[in-house]
Amino acid sequence: MEIIADAQALDRGDGNAKYELSVATFRKPDAVIFKQRQTSTVSAWVCEQCGYVELYADTPASLKSPK
Ligand SMILES: [Zn+2]
Repeated sequence: MEIIADAQALDRGDGNAKYELSVATFRKPDAVIFKQRQTSTVSAWVCEQCGYVELYADTPASLKSPK
């Protein structure tokens, strides 16, 4: 099975600008202003044969809330 690793997952924003797809968590989701957003960009693994895509957060530790 051939896997294309680390393909860039792209998202599109205003004016068709390309952004690296990312995931986000919030340390204080109930806060009105300072929600303390934490993000990680996302990389994709693509199967060459069937096109199946798996997504991986590049820096998963940065999404974890402190205990
Ligand atoms: Zn496949």
